[in-house]
Amino acid sequence: MTNGQRDTSKPLPAPSAAAPVVCAGCTATRDVKSTLNGIPRTPSGWKRHADCYYCSSCWGRAYLLRTIALPIASPLDCTWDELNALLRQAWQLTTSACNWMMTELYARDVRRTGAEEMPPMPSVYLYPELRQRFPDLPSSTVATLERACQRKYRAVRYRVLWTSGAALPNYRYPAPFPVPAQGWQVECQDGVTVISLRLGGQRLRLRLKGGPQFRLQLRLAALIASGEAVPGEAYLRQEGSAILFSMAAWLPRQQPAAVRDRTGVLTVATRRDCLLTASNARKEAIWIYNADHLRRWQAAHARQLQRWSEDHKYEQRPVPAFAARREAAVRKYRHRMESACHEIAAQLAGYASRRRYATVRYDDSERGFCEQFPWFRLRSMIAEKMDAAGIALELAQPAVNQPDEEGQP
Ligand SMILES: [Zn+2]
Repeated sequence: MTNGQRDTSKPLPAPSAAAPVVCAGCTATRDVKSTLNGIPRTPSGWKRHADCYYCSSCWGRAYLLRTIALPIASPLDCTWDELNALLRQAWQLTTSACNWMMTELYARDVRRTGAEEMPPMPSVYLYPELRQRFPDLPSSTVATLERACQRKYRAVRYRVLWTSGAALPNYRYPAPFPVPAQGWQVECQDGVTVISLRLGGQRLRLRLKGGPQFRLQLRLAALIASGEAVPGEAYLRQEGSAILFSMAAWLPRQQPAAVRDRTGVLTVATRRDCLLTASNARKEAIWIYNADHLRRWQAAHARQLQRWSEDHKYEQRPVPAFAARREAAVRKYRHRMESACHEIAAQLAGYASRRRYATVRYDDSERGFCEQFPWFRLRSMIAEKMDAAGIALELAQPAVNQPDEEGQP
């Protein structure tokens, strides 16, 4: 195929291209495959929010999950009769899809023979068949239903399959209709809360009930509307004569309390025999950062530069043959030192934060461990990271600007 024939308006799909996904909190990395539109798949248990990825423990430290339900007061774009018809159809589909899945999961599972232990469940992927059988259900709804049914089946599997202590779960009409996290929005204006979502192929806005009895729910809805809380899965379900919209949302944990609890001074100093030590009020060294690798890198880099400068004397050309390599080596070295400063500052800030120190006193007057280390850069990064952690930084000596430190050794 020539270039002229290729349709360049559509990027080639790369469903199997592996791309690393990095946690924005702890920099943990996972290799994942990309989706058809080139976005890396979110690893299982991870969260994607505002174009960043978070591992489950970082996400759990920052957010907590809350679920609220509010009754629908009135549809804004159609009549109640039309809304009821759409809901009836949606609930019929979810109910039959769930029951079909339960039966299939059971049918494709192992049967009890004489074995003492129940074998693990064979992996069953029903999504493609579900899409064919229930073409009127949105794909994201099908995916959510499958996850929910698999979870429910696995929870009862032992009693259903092995001990016959329970019957296979049966969904009764109306099984709740799931709306994925990206499939609904909420707006709060002048005390009126409105959600919008797609149902039966059309976009609908529904007004939710207000009033003092829903104070807590409305407050969370307002946090979702303002973008402060991160929306999760939602469901449309029936309860008595009411139609409820139940929504899950991730609420940011309150951090200021942790900052208020802090006390004490951590004294951090550079040393001749290691890069940094931190000691408590009793002058006991409680944290040490050796960083022998920094000395090795520095020595190797200085040796290499020295050899290049010796060779330069015998070069006839004004620009030596190794100029490009030397430049690359200097760049690489600076980059390495920059990353090292980040890493050291983050380690120190993490330690001081976990030990709940209110203040860090920092003295970097001893430079004997590694003369050519970018000490000034390290100090400014420590200042940044302490600030982000809410820890005060006291410098033992005034910060003298030494830009030449940043340069090559
Ligand atoms: Zn993480």
